[in-house]
Amino acid sequence: MRGRVPVGLAVSGDELGLLSAFLSGYLCCQLLQAQQGLLEFKHRGPVSESYSGANTSSSAKSTTVAFAGLLGLAALGIASAYWRPHPTPVHLDSVIAPAQQAEDTGYASSDEVRKAIEELKKALRGEVITDASTLVTYGSSANSYHPASPHSVAVRVNSTDDVVKVVNIAKKYRIPVVAYSGATSLEGHYSGIESGSICIDMSGMDKVLEIHEDDGDLVCQAGARWEDINQILKDKDIPLFFPIDPGPGATIGGMIGTGCSGTNAVRYGTARAEWFLNVTVVLPNGKVIKTRRRARKSSTGFDTTKLFIGAEGTLGIVTEATLRLAPVVPTKVAMAQFPTVEKAVSAVQEILNSPDGPHIQCVELLDDRMMAAINAAGLVSRSYPVSDTLFLKLQGTNESIQQTATTVQNIFSRHGSTAFEFASSEDEAAEMWENRKYALMSTITAGGEGTRVWTTDVCVPVSRLPELVYETKKDLAKSGLNKTTIVGHVGDGNFHALIGFNSDEELPNVSAAVHRLVHRAIALDGTCTGEHGVGVGKKEYLYDELGEDTVELMKTIKAAIDPLNIMNPGKLYPDDKPGKGH
Ligand SMILES: Cc1cc2nc3c(=O)[nH]c(=O)nc-3n(C[C@H](O)[C@H](O)[C@H](O)COP(=O)(O)OP(=O)(O)OC[C@H]3O[C@@H](n4cnc5c(N)ncnc54)[C@H](O)[C@@H]3O)c2cc1C
Repeated sequence: MRGRVPVGLAVSGDELGLLSAFLSGYLCCQLLQAQQGLLEFKHRGPVSESYSGANTSSSAKSTTVAFAGLLGLAALGIASAYWRPHPTPVHLDSVIAPAQQAEDTGYASSDEVRKAIEELKKALRGEVITDASTLVTYGSSANSYHPASPHSVAVRVNSTDDVVKVVNIAKKYRIPVVAYSGATSLEGHYSGIESGSICIDMSGMDKVLEIHEDDGDLVCQAGARWEDINQILKDKDIPLFFPIDPGPGATIGGMIGTGCSGTNAVRYGTARAEWFLNVTVVLPNGKVIKTRRRARKSSTGFDTTKLFIGAEGTLGIVTEATLRLAPVVPTKVAMAQFPTVEKAVSAVQEILNSPDGPHIQCVELLDDRMMAAINAAGLVSRSYPVSDTLFLKLQGTNESIQQTATTVQNIFSRHGSTAFEFASSEDEAAEMWENRKYALMSTITAGGEGTRVWTTDVCVPVSRLPELVYETKKDLAKSGLNKTTIVGHVGDGNFHALIGFNSDEELPNVSAAVHRLVHRAIALDGTCTGEHGVGVGKKEYLYDELGEDTVELMKTIKAAIDPLNIMNPGKLYPDDKPGKGH
């Protein structure tokens, strides 16, 4: 088991730093997703201000101080996580697997891995990294509590040609290749492979190559971050934006990899909608394909672009993509309290199915415990009723927003809403949305010193959400996991449990609660993951969720495209059931 890193199981200084980075990062995400702007989370770089693109608000200034403080926290967390004063020199042998393991797996021996590294150094213009502590960072994530191994080598690529060279060397020696981009995925997606692996760091391929304003699309490299893309459009006074909004720092390649979404999904859909018009991919055999041309529509055969959305880097490495863009539309914010999640959800369903439904850009549910945590944490200026609360963003012209607000208010009161506030100005909207954006930090702060959080996501048909929330809260209380709060993209039936805990000893209890939650969601005709993806953490649920034959189809596609199984093995596809041949 040499080389295994039980991520998150020991609280070393580094891990505290990583945890701090994660928490700060997640808070930044709340801020970002809440306000749609002004924040940039750089994975290994400075944290700076930028714009996410959907909507600007003059009231942004009113939150600058809070942002500055939180950005400071984030910077501190990131710095302590990734800055090592004197990196311990570790010999390459310590990150290359022993030869006999290679025989077991069919992958390259340690000698072959060494030869491959030498070839990579000769072949690439980009950097080839063999420093052991950096490889641990590349191979593990503070956001995931699943076991991970360091990579044998990491390469920073600059072009599709670079990626082809890496894949050809990996193919020659049969070494697993793992794409790494924004590194914000949450289920061990890019962890290293125990027998040895090459990590391809795509983050340098971050250029926007072409903008076609009239056509409403742009072409970019896969390492471009969604916030940067929106900032570039804003800087150029182009009134368009890319509406898929996952974690801060996420890149186009990683977003395609995980089939992500975010708060905007209720209005704009997910990465699986047609926001990616085509992708350029380096296949496991080293060939480069482009899945489609730039036309908005095409009915030429089946959709090969989709094959790579949610494939988590197991079918090829995406190097470029054409993104469809949406017009920037003004927004306003509303907030309402409800006596139960059930009433809140039924109100949301009615609004979304009404003629004003298309004017709802985001609907977020914060449960009563989250509201209590917000009050207890004291990060906002006033106290709120401790009840299940909806935060909404309405979009459109002034007239349509006013009309939608009236509809929303009427529907809410019919469904027993106990209080409703609609912000009539942008300043008021930003102030109100602050409550939503303090959600995660409030969970941590209210949990007390040393609180850590395991974030998980599931998704069910919206009508089944109240039952899921009710049963889950009962189960968490019975398990003694009383520091948990719930936040949901309620318009999509997608919900996140932020399970607070303090010690490693609690991890089996937390993990068991996540397991039960996933099974509960699947039993309600839902999914083990609405937006975070499968990685290592959720793959065991695919047989249950999709059925044996669907999983076999996935494995057949994988085997056809990647017969050597070199693209991110061990992720996404569940292990074979006992007695199965694969
Ligand atoms: C604070 C925070 C908030 C978040 N909020 C959301 C949210 O609201 N919605 C949501 O959906 N997710 C959310 N996430 C999860 C995460 O942001 C998404 O999963 C995101 O899509 C990952 O993108 P990335 O660039 O970080 O990918 P990475 O983590 O680098 O990689 C993800 C997967 O894609 C593969 N991959 C990466 N690049 C490529 C490529 N070029 N070609 C092929 N495969 C590739 C990797 O091998 C890996 O399997 C959040 C995460 C954090 C930390």
